Amino acid sequence: MRSSIGSPEFADSFMIETLNEFGLAVRYVRAEGNTLYHVAEDGTEVGVFDAAGGFGSLMFGHHHPQIVAHAKWLLDQQTPVHTQLAGYTFALNLAAELNTVVRRELETEDRFFAHFGNTGAEAVEIAVKHAELERGMRIAGLRDEIAGHVEQARRAVARGAALSEAAAAFAHGGGFEDLVAEVTRRNAVTGQRPPLLLALEGGFHGKLIGSVQLTYNEAFRAPFKALAAQTRFIPRDRPELIAKVVEEERATLWDVVVRDGVVEVAERDFPVFTAFVVEPIMGERGIVPLSARLARALREACDTIGVPLVADEIQCGMGRSGTFLAGTQIGLRPDYIVLAKALGGGIAKLGVVLINEHRYQKEFEMMHTSTFGRDGFSSLVAVKVVQMLEAEDGKAYQLAAERGAKARAMMEAIKADYPDVVKDVRGKGLMLGFEIHKQSGSASPEIREATEHEALSYIIGGHLLRKHRVRIFSTASSDETLRFEPSIYLSDEEIAQVDVAFRDVCQILQDQDASRFA
Ligand code: PMP
Repeated sequence: MRSSIGSPEFADSFMIETLNEFGLAVRYVRAEGNTLYHVAEDGTEVGVFDAAGGFGSLMFGHHHPQIVAHAKWLLDQQTPVHTQLAGYTFALNLAAELNTVVRRELETEDRFFAHFGNTGAEAVEIAVKHAELERGMRIAGLRDEIAGHVEQARRAVARGAALSEAAAAFAHGGGFEDLVAEVTRRNAVTGQRPPLLLALEGGFHGKLIGSVQLTYNEAFRAPFKALAAQTRFIPRDRPELIAKVVEEERATLWDVVVRDGVVEVAERDFPVFTAFVVEPIMGERGIVPLSARLARALREACDTIGVPLVADEIQCGMGRSGTFLAGTQIGLRPDYIVLAKALGGGIAKLGVVLINEHRYQKEFEMMHTSTFGRDGFSSLVAVKVVQMLEAEDGKAYQLAAERGAKARAMMEAIKADYPDVVKDVRGKGLMLGFEIHKQSGSASPEIREATEHEALSYIIGGHLLRKHRVRIFSTASSDETLRFEPSIYLSDEEIAQVDVAFRDVCQILQDQDASRFA
């Protein structure tokens, strides 16, 4: 039985209309490995090489037989799927599997507590919520300390201690209780300050109300600014700016202390920032790996500020880079790790946040829940996926690295042959970006115009699909970068197919002849 594919009458009409302009709206009817099939007019199935790879969710390709068999088995076994408030769920199995892998890669004995959601953006928001709970605890701790100091000072005043000149000015010339009132008033004002997040320029962390404010792309973020906490963005090549931003946003809580028998006021830094969220390889920015130097700087900055470092491994994690965590290769030492996409093996939908035990707030378990979060089916599919990654001494990681290196060599060779067309080839493992120079100076008015409207990648995508049966798109925030994220079963034939296809595009761009676009 094959279900029919509907018309855009009630959904996606605008998207389909837009994609149709470039011949990119396609009714795929079947998917297997790296191939998507649509039906030609004569009724035959046409296979397309899928380099878009679910934008990173298809490490094992479409419908991997082992994953499908496991999923069917789970259903045939009547495995409990929804067992809210049972306590023991299959999510515990997944948490244990993930701990084994993550602790090995981070070379730590620390435990990571897992918290489950349904999508990447949701998992990012769970991470941010947990970090905000941590910030609240830090603020409460500071307030308690200050309250204790006020009591000590009150006793000292009762024994005859005087106010310093600065403290007297604070009290507007009044006494100790006036000082306390002023300190309380000022601290209440500071306490009203909304929290801020830190992230990198160009980063992408989702499109939900909170997570979209961590996503740098203005087109996605700006219209929804008023809905959630704001982010200060740091350029990835200028980590020294973190300290400047921290200074700019500095807020003070006032403390009352007794020094040498005199009551003084003292400034304490108010915890303004909630978390620093980064992708070890920036996906939507155009496949940009972070440097080891930046990884070190981020760790130091987070230690100084006292905020958790959150590694968003949603796209680059799960082995795609050649290691389970892409951050491992640059020595990134995160406090939280966020995974989603490939965790579901291409058939389940889930996201997870792994939180270092030293920062974990156990109350959070009851505070944040979701009907579908930690469901039995997704959890056990994900367990299977992690086991498949780890099987045969991590053969999947080796394949990602080896196949990726071969694909990259193909792209580098094209770059060498078309230096005026290809700007850069970037990435790690099977997360590669093929960047084309901006074509604003092309002699072809069509190419120039398309570049201006950020539509050239759609034209190229349509050409590659129709003429070469290769499905590939640019990243969300870099129109010039084609994203190559196929499964680890990438074959030599598929690499050769992309080689021919990319060379054809480069030749058209070099000849500045848009008439040859199919
Ligand atoms: N973070 C990163 C790094 C991503 O690449 C994405 C998706 N492109 C997300 C978060 C959001 O994930 P989802 O689409 O599942 O909400």
